[in-house]
Amino acid sequence: MMDKKYNTQLLPASAHPKDPAVEQAAKLLRQGELVAIPTETVYGLAANALDPDAVKKIFLAKGRPQDNPLIVHISSFEEITQLVSQIPDKARKLAEIFWPGPLTMVLPRSSLVPDVVTAGLDTVAIRMPSHPVARAVIQASGVPIAAPSANLSGKPSPTTARHCMEDLNGKIPLILDGGSCQVGVESTVVSLAGDIPRLLRPGAVTPEQLREVLGLLAVDPAVLEKITEGPVASPGMKYMHYSPKATVIMITGPWFACKDFLTQKQGEGVWALVFDEDLEDCPLPAISLGPQNDPAKQAQNLFSALRELDEKQAQLVYARAPMEEGMGLAVYNRLIRAAGFSVIHLTD
Ligand code: AMP
Ligand code: MG
Repeated sequence: MMDKKYNTQLLPASAHPKDPAVEQAAKLLRQGELVAIPTETVYGLAANALDPDAVKKIFLAKGRPQDNPLIVHISSFEEITQLVSQIPDKARKLAEIFWPGPLTMVLPRSSLVPDVVTAGLDTVAIRMPSHPVARAVIQASGVPIAAPSANLSGKPSPTTARHCMEDLNGKIPLILDGGSCQVGVESTVVSLAGDIPRLLRPGAVTPEQLREVLGLLAVDPAVLEKITEGPVASPGMKYMHYSPKATVIMITGPWFACKDFLTQKQGEGVWALVFDEDLEDCPLPAISLGPQNDPAKQAQNLFSALRELDEKQAQLVYARAPMEEGMGLAVYNRLIRAAGFSVIHLTD
């Protein structure tokens, strides 16, 4: 067993600039320590982005592969200038509309950004979160904040302070509790470093919304497919992700076909992840993601549902496929990774 390095504190936090919990977080960050903080997407594991030793602690605490770069969080647009070598017009436009909010932009980096943040890439990913506590912490610390999700690498991302405690107790000095995350899945990542803007990870800002502003938007193949070879545009996308301990298998098709299939799969430790409408006549013990036609609600519930399946000691989980449109694409993208890309297509 790993010995506990810290007696991890869990403190409720408000956005008040003089909130003692926020001030303590800012102080720890300036000292090169890690703090888990709420954001509107998922909880983040924060470090001073300009301090390579502090950033290295993130990789250690999470068990995160070194070649998976981090997103740098800022609280005002001006902070971007020191981090990038140029600001394309498209980035200004997107920032005007979607910042603060769940959109990350990949831009050509400046030399100020440590290599450990970008995994040696010549680009840096930047986001301005809207969560009042995240903003207060960034402002109070006075530095840009590198922060991946505050979970152990591979596990479902944390959407509550309790999830952070489950994964990081003893490994970091402080977790700020700002309640449940409103979005529930990580930010949309769009690269503006090439000629054509490219969606690297879907999130609450949808491809449809991005196209309205950008016109052309390429969707990276890694959004929906398994990339096994060669360089990937978004290194994080090649890893198995978001998984509960159980084996997850995605099933597609109409409910009556799924129901027949699940009836044959009954057994010890076999669970289903379905929609509200399916709960009543589901042949397996089941957890719901939310209403079938409400992907925003499904996104809010997804990661806590995956953790709940662990608590129920599920061994095998059949998960109904979310829609691939709008925010459904973000839910689909996370669930297919939780399933290690294993899908069974059911028809009538
Ligand atoms: P996480 O911190 O767990 O939300 O993951 C951050 C995501 O952003 C990962 O999928 C990374 O691969 C992606 N990312 C971060 N920086 C870059 C970058 N410079 N270029 C491309 N993707 C990036
Ligand atoms: Mg993550």
